[in-house]
Amino acid sequence: APRKLAAGNWKMNGDLAALAEIDALVAAHPTPGCDVLICPPAVLIHPMKARIGRAAIAVGGQDCHARTSGAHTGDIAAAQLRDAGATHVILGHSERRADHGETDAAVAAKAAAAHAAGLVAIICVGETEAQRDAGRTLTVIAAQLDGSIPEGATASNTVIAYEPVWAIGTGRTPTGDQIAEVHALMRERLTGKVADAAGVRLLYGGSVKPGNAAEIFAIPHVDGALVGGASLKAVDFGPIIAAL
Ligand code: 13P
Repeated sequence: APRKLAAGNWKMNGDLAALAEIDALVAAHPTPGCDVLICPPAVLIHPMKARIGRAAIAVGGQDCHARTSGAHTGDIAAAQLRDAGATHVILGHSERRADHGETDAAVAAKAAAAHAAGLVAIICVGETEAQRDAGRTLTVIAAQLDGSIPEGATASNTVIAYEPVWAIGTGRTPTGDQIAEVHALMRERLTGKVADAAGVRLLYGGSVKPGNAAEIFAIPHVDGALVGGASLKAVDFGPIIAAL
């Protein structure tokens, strides 16, 4: 099984003062037993990387443009994230799919750009509550995977995050069986499409907290978590890291 990954998505939260949380996290977990990644707002990538110093925490972006440079006001190229110190980038988060109309094809193009720049793409998929209620969860996830993963994806340059839209920021989570069912489908769907599919890390995301982390991490094919709200404070993210 691949080494587990605890990934934090700060979303549009945090500022320079919040980097004190990095000091607290490193002090509490100097040698984590899993890979640790934090994806802050882009303006914090470089100062966060500097603050981390030699500690074992990677830094990532939350989006990138599909092109390498040019007239795209407000956008950031994958190579610019890398230049600022990022090694990873979250792509196709449901908030970007909803707020910015990102399609599967757009996500695949961004992931290809991330790969070309040497970044690990964390590609997000997840059903809405209406889709789950209609019994369409597995169909939706399969289609998102097929459309959002670019050619050339491998276990070393791609991570998949399953984030049910209805579980994000709500305090609600799927049952263990529901997560297991989706993760098994994802593993199967990657086989043949991605080199070394068995080694691709499959994260669960959506209301992961210190209190439910150990239970979620024990589910088959769950290789870590993508954590939103509980990644902002070391007192919450630390115990999640420890649970991995
Ligand atoms: P919460 O952990 O706040 O539910 O957010 C999950 C998420 O969207 C991470 O990308």
